[in-house]
Amino acid sequence: MNISEIHYPRSLQELMLLLEREMNVQIVAGGTTFGYIQTTRYLSFEPSIMYIGQIPELRSIHKTERMISFGAACTLSELEHVYPFEHGQARKLLHTIGTPAVRNIATIGGHLMYGKRFLSLWALLACFDAELEFRAFSKTSTKNIWYSADEMGMPTIESGRLLTRIRIPLQSIDHLFIQRIGGAVFPDGDGGYLVSVATIDRRTISNFKLVIAGPRAYRDYDAEQRIIAAPHPLPARIMQTVMRMYAESLRKTNFWNVELLLPLISQVLEALQRSTE
Ligand SMILES: Cc1cc2nc3c(=O)[nH]c(=O)nc-3n(C[C@H](O)[C@H](O)[C@H](O)COP(=O)(O)OP(=O)(O)OC[C@H]3O[C@@H](n4cnc5c(N)ncnc54)[C@H](O)[C@@H]3O)c2cc1C
Repeated sequence: MNISEIHYPRSLQELMLLLEREMNVQIVAGGTTFGYIQTTRYLSFEPSIMYIGQIPELRSIHKTERMISFGAACTLSELEHVYPFEHGQARKLLHTIGTPAVRNIATIGGHLMYGKRFLSLWALLACFDAELEFRAFSKTSTKNIWYSADEMGMPTIESGRLLTRIRIPLQSIDHLFIQRIGGAVFPDGDGGYLVSVATIDRRTISNFKLVIAGPRAYRDYDAEQRIIAAPHPLPARIMQTVMRMYAESLRKTNFWNVELLLPLISQVLEALQRSTE
């Protein structure tokens, strides 16, 4: 039987020193996925377990004029009233995750670092251009959340890296579309979310994103670029071009059900046409 030592660091500095010293480490935040990430019937753990829920730096929320930043160990409940979850639809999505008791323990860091698939908030945070800050002993790196998907759209989580903060630029939301697709999202299954966000500025679409995430993640940058800077409402020819682009890129992935998703994307664009600044 393996015996693991559990560490309870009380500061980021203490955690960094431990991560530098220990070789094989399992980071635990809320611990709600523990049973699900085991690959065998028998529980097995790394020799060192780091519980990160008592580190104040990882539990703080900062807001500036341009950006909100939350620590990776903030629970999902703690995020309920902050941007972007103060937005009714985003909060509704947050509330679909588990139960209040689960959300009081489950952290946003654990949600994003699950690794087996993309969980419920991933598509929304990708639409909001979230940036993930990772720390190692002597190095901090920041990546757009999109870089936690590989070129096939599969999750790529480097094990052993500590996610410290999630930063989201503040922007006005004129159009937010969230649609659940498929079956179960957790612990695995074919379910996911299609999320689209847009900003309209003086009758021009100044921002548009559409992300689908579940077992894989999908986004068509070229189609988004065709919409950004276009007049609002979108001219019919741009609508047609964009629908063609989405049809082609979805087919290319050889994964998503194009017949199911195209009507939803068309619904997104029609709802965008009706949006006001
Ligand atoms: C009953 C139940 C129902 C659920 N329903 C849903 C649902 O409907 N939709 C949905 O999307 N999710 C659902 N979940 C999953 C939930 O979102 C995740 O379990 C939760 O967010 C994970 O957070 P955690 O803090 O418990 O992570 P943990 O279990 O502690 O960690 C998860 C993984 O992330 C790693 N990790 C954690 N924090 C960090 C960090 N800061 N840096 C690096 N690695 C880290 C851990 O090492 C581990 O590999 C459900 C969970 C439960 C228990």
